Amino acid sequence: MEQKLRNVTVDQLCEVIDLLYTSMDDYLYIYDFEHDFYYISPNAIKRFKIPENGFHNVIQNMKAFVYPPDYAELVTDLTAIQNNEKRFHNLQYRWLDSDNNPVWINSRGYVYVTGQKPAYMLGCINEIGNRQKADNISGLLGESSLHCYLEEFFPHFPDGYLLRLGIDDFKGINEKLGMEYGDTVLKQTAECIARCILPKQKLYSLPADEYMVLDFSGGTAKDARKLYKQIRRKIDQYVERHQYEAVFTISGGVLESNQTTDLSLSDIMKLSEFSLNEAKRRGRNQCYHFHYSDYDAFLKQKELKALLQKSVRNHFEGFEAYYQPLFSLADHTLYGAETLMRFRCEKYGTVSPAEFIPALEETGLIIPLGRWILHEGLSACKQIRQWIPDFRISINVSYVQIMKSDIIDEIVRATEEYDIPTSQVVIELTESGALESDVHLSKLWSKIRERGIRLALDDFGTGYSNFHYLYDLQPDIIKIDRSFTAKAMENDYEYNLLSLMSGMVHNLNLKICIEGIETEEEKKRIMEFAPDYSQGFYFGKPCPFDQFIEQFIKPLQS
Ligand code: C2E
Ligand code: MG
Ligand code: MG
Repeated sequence: MEQKLRNVTVDQLCEVIDLLYTSMDDYLYIYDFEHDFYYISPNAIKRFKIPENGFHNVIQNMKAFVYPPDYAELVTDLTAIQNNEKRFHNLQYRWLDSDNNPVWINSRGYVYVTGQKPAYMLGCINEIGNRQKADNISGLLGESSLHCYLEEFFPHFPDGYLLRLGIDDFKGINEKLGMEYGDTVLKQTAECIARCILPKQKLYSLPADEYMVLDFSGGTAKDARKLYKQIRRKIDQYVERHQYEAVFTISGGVLESNQTTDLSLSDIMKLSEFSLNEAKRRGRNQCYHFHYSDYDAFLKQKELKALLQKSVRNHFEGFEAYYQPLFSLADHTLYGAETLMRFRCEKYGTVSPAEFIPALEETGLIIPLGRWILHEGLSACKQIRQWIPDFRISINVSYVQIMKSDIIDEIVRATEEYDIPTSQVVIELTESGALESDVHLSKLWSKIRERGIRLALDDFGTGYSNFHYLYDLQPDIIKIDRSFTAKAMENDYEYNLLSLMSGMVHNLNLKICIEGIETEEEKKRIMEFAPDYSQGFYFGKPCPFDQFIEQFIKPLQS
């Protein structure tokens, strides 16, 4: 072997690499020690963060694409080869892909010597994680075969679509019925899909519980939805035939070929993954067609989360506490204020709480920020008490804070720190997705009630905030959300419902606060069912502390 290669030049070996690479998944390379030169299969340049093919100053330039923690080990190995201490290179380490993610590779190579000196090394690199070509459970070809098929068309896909399918809550099936049953579900789902597709369509299995159907024969998103429904029906029939032993559903995400223009293969896979996740996020057992506006909103949420994280690190930079007056309607006096969070940043300007509160809850950042606004609110209350001694301050507390932090002890400690009687603090429990553990919540809640702190149930009449919380939590105040108030203004049925509800709340000896009153007319109509408190732009908009003092406190002093 050594003899034969002696007459072959490095240039010729590079040409051989160019000839072979299109028929290989692995990457061939040559490392010429004499000229300190490196050449690899050109498809590696797209896949990894290699700035250009055919580069000199090899060890130094490899720094650009070798995962930094693995670099020292590679240098040791290559130096030993150059020093003629070993002839065979066999190292498993990580390279960075074009998105900067580490990818495990196995790099092997044999060193050819001229005289006593190593001349060059010829070898092959394979991706360790990319070996699985077929999935023996589903009986389908796997992700690397899918990539090969896509590469045939790349970068211009014929009209058609990618339909990514995923079993809903597969983890739950495994947990409830065991892994073996899980494998059966994977296999049966693959069969159901296979029975629905046409010969011109391709089916692959993706890691975990996902599948991909490719149709490049001119189909549209509408056709993809039709196919999805057919598959769903097949799965329902399977579940029924097996006497509902395991009831499971499937979600789908559709990306049309014309939505992939100018995208790399890895971006195309990312968008199809997003589409499937979006179907699951919207409630599962449904098919979602990709829209760039949704993806942009998703990216914005992601970026927003990073900005919020940064703000928390920078002492809550960009956050401000606003105060909105609450009026007692019995005697038309200022009763207190609700503390509301505001966030501003360079990139997006003022961001609505409807956007950043869910981001704070998902990231857990609501915990430090909840603590921050608690202190802002109580410190404001302490100052206002100089003029209005029984001023009440309302603080919004999210369910996440109650369940995942010691916010209750924190509230009690803070009232002591600011020397505010606990009876002047109102905690508004904001609705937040599914309330998982009511028992835990009501236990914690009784703890806070024992300390005399008052509870308002926010957003009453919407989403999850409903009647059974009146019993479980025994709140002091019920706050009717603006959406309910607005509907009651337009519709007699809603108005009567609101009137009935407020009668019932009063019969239970609880107080009612109507939110979102914007006009004199609205106020008049709402007054007909005698709410205790009200809040709305008609009485005053949320504003910063100094403005609140000027607008609502100082006029009372004169
Ligand atoms: P919420 O607690 O129900 O707060 C009342 C919301 O209604 C505020 O919206 C307020 O500006 C708005 N509002 C009051 N009167 C009117 C009106 O007459 N017309 C209209 N159109 N709107 C009115 P904002 O400040 O955008 O806050 C939205 C939600 O974000 C809050 O609803 C609350 O659930 C959440 N939130 C705000 N600050 C915090 C906080 O510090 N912690 C937590 N956990 N959630 C917060
Ligand atoms: Mg509130
Ligand atoms: Mg509210």
